[in-house]
Amino acid sequence: MLKVKISVVIILVLMVAGVFSAPVTGVQSGTTLSGILNIIFGDCEARGDSHVVYYLYTGPGEYVRIHPSTPVPLNYQGKQVAVTGVFNALSSGGIINATAVTLLDDTPVSPVVSGTRRIAMLLLKYSDSAAYTPNTATYYTNLMNPATNSVNGFYREESYNLLSIQADVYGWYTLPQPRSYYVAGGISSCGTANLGLIASHGVAVADPYVYFPTYNDVSFVMNDYLDCCAWGGGVTITADGQTKSYGATWEPPWAQNVGVYAHEIGHSIGCPHTGFVGGNTYDSVWDVESGGSSFNQVWRGSYYSVAAGGVTLNLYSADPCHHIAYHKINMGWIDKWHLETGTWTTTVTLNALAGTRTGFMGIKVYVRGENPAKKYFTVEARTRINYDQWLPADGVIIHFVDQDRMVPGAAGTDWVPAYPIDANPGTATLSDAQWGVGTTYTNAGYGLSISVLSKTGNSYQVRITGGWVSPTGLTDAAPAIVFFNSRLYAAVKGNGNNRIYLNSMNPSTFVWSGWSLLPAPSGATPSAPALAASSTYLYLVVRGMDNRIYWRRMTTGGSWSAWTAVPTGSTDAAPAATIFTFNGRLYCAVKGYGSNAIYLNSMDTGTLVWSGWVLRPGATPSSPALTSSSSYVYMAVRGTNNLIYWNRMTTGGSWSSWTAVPTGSTDSAPAITYFNNRLFAAVNGMGSNAIYINSMDSSLLSWPSWAQLTGASPSPHALAGSPTRIYISVRGTTNIIYYQ
Ligand SMILES: [Zn+2]
Repeated sequence: MLKVKISVVIILVLMVAGVFSAPVTGVQSGTTLSGILNIIFGDCEARGDSHVVYYLYTGPGEYVRIHPSTPVPLNYQGKQVAVTGVFNALSSGGIINATAVTLLDDTPVSPVVSGTRRIAMLLLKYSDSAAYTPNTATYYTNLMNPATNSVNGFYREESYNLLSIQADVYGWYTLPQPRSYYVAGGISSCGTANLGLIASHGVAVADPYVYFPTYNDVSFVMNDYLDCCAWGGGVTITADGQTKSYGATWEPPWAQNVGVYAHEIGHSIGCPHTGFVGGNTYDSVWDVESGGSSFNQVWRGSYYSVAAGGVTLNLYSADPCHHIAYHKINMGWIDKWHLETGTWTTTVTLNALAGTRTGFMGIKVYVRGENPAKKYFTVEARTRINYDQWLPADGVIIHFVDQDRMVPGAAGTDWVPAYPIDANPGTATLSDAQWGVGTTYTNAGYGLSISVLSKTGNSYQVRITGGWVSPTGLTDAAPAIVFFNSRLYAAVKGNGNNRIYLNSMNPSTFVWSGWSLLPAPSGATPSAPALAASSTYLYLVVRGMDNRIYWRRMTTGGSWSAWTAVPTGSTDAAPAATIFTFNGRLYCAVKGYGSNAIYLNSMDTGTLVWSGWVLRPGATPSSPALTSSSSYVYMAVRGTNNLIYWNRMTTGGSWSSWTAVPTGSTDSAPAITYFNNRLFAAVNGMGSNAIYINSMDSSLLSWPSWAQLTGASPSPHALAGSPTRIYISVRGTTNIIYYQ
């Protein structure tokens, strides 16, 4: 179809004039150019090394190659940036050796990963090999569009029918220049193809026939070699009256199969390489974005290659395996079908990633001491079905994700955030990286173990277990913990005495400062202490030896106030305390002395004046627990019937009625903390030392179920939330203090 539109023809003429005139050659230092950044990944035919190139779209048909001094984050793809550096004008377009790439507009760019992704395939011949084509146009339609054995079939299967691929094929068209004009090096040189120039000329020759804005992607399908690589990423194109960023692939003949297309389109929708454990980008056969794009190779024909020196070369089909759970979580393909967990003990049935989407298809495991947005594990089950049928084995694959992981390769630094944890590190390959039934991965640093318990059909039972860590020290009562001034603070009653000890941990290094007594008079308590924190003070609240309630506080600089008694009131159990950030007040709750009554009091932390004890409804035979979010103060108690009850107070001071947690009972005080919009509770099992944890969604007010942690404790537990994680601390059965 030839478009008959006068305005388009005029634009085309201007574009061609701009593109084909060679700019003046010269070097300008301190140049700043702005435009839209196109990031493109390159994959060598001979494997070995990967490449990333950057082009700045500066205007219709104009692309400036950027050589950044440090890798640019992938989320800059398709965004407006300013690039500063030394500009070299070349006859085939400019290059900037960039010292800075600055985002001008951080509006998120979200590639289409559900629905139909429409691709315009432009079949392009170099002018010096225009007599030869590797395939007919029909070949490409059949490569991309059928429901099975195609790029569309692959993406439909692996997105669980969320994403379809639909390609329209245009060409063959002859480019105005020979290959040597577009590619500076030979067929095994890396990164020497001028992808911007090919895009510019390719769009120009196809524009009379293609209405570009209909499409999400443009594929530049070459009749002969580029450099060593096939390429996938993005390109910004002005055509048909619109400037738009498209997904883009540049595919030489050897790459024109389902496997390589699946890989390059993956780059276009935001998937980086994975693997690169042993010095090679493509060393993980478990991911199509690593070594998993070239299974089942079958000879399918040949073509005459001018670029290779005038020889006939064989062409092969190739099939991909699935994207790993890391990508599928990022794509949103298993949103409701993956579990996000900490290192609590959890047993999960994982269904095969290449199977039907049901139950859990993956697990994201957050670990202590790490930013959960940056570092975590993923766990997935892989069995040899569907597009995973060519995998070397069945098993559970564990990846570690480090979003900042940069791997130095021969052709520059590659951003490779996820890599498999090899179950058989003694062998040189990751092809036996799978964890089989009966095996356990342990990571002592994170206190984490992942065990593969059993396999049923295409599903694996997997248990995630956290480990307890002891910072030394003993207590014969419950510990208290709170996050203050970027550290985790712990307070305990001394083992066999009434002294009060304090310790604190750096959450990045897990290093504890050591237990110490408070400055004199250091005080004494017959019960567990309580801790609370504001942004400026750490508060310690205890039951005194005379059963009155005492408090003191420490500044961020470490200086302590004296002990002060709450003016009235007494208790025969441990107090509870929290700071309500809404009004900055210190709230304190106690069980009445010699009774099961629950009393609440609060102090203005500026004037240090207490409002007075108020009798709350309800009764408890144990200590109450307090915590707060920005909108509520939460209280939880063990009821006299041993059920666990909670209520909360609004910023206006009104309390909800007591509600029982639907399941579970305990014979000691609960612990609560607020984290990630959930109220977490930890209790001892009824009549046992087992440790259970549960959490309530603060909007839905629903409690899923109690999970049992490993370990045992004869006392109530302590919970504390930090901005990025939740901590639990317990007294062990031999009085050792543990946390995780
Ligand atoms: Zn790649």
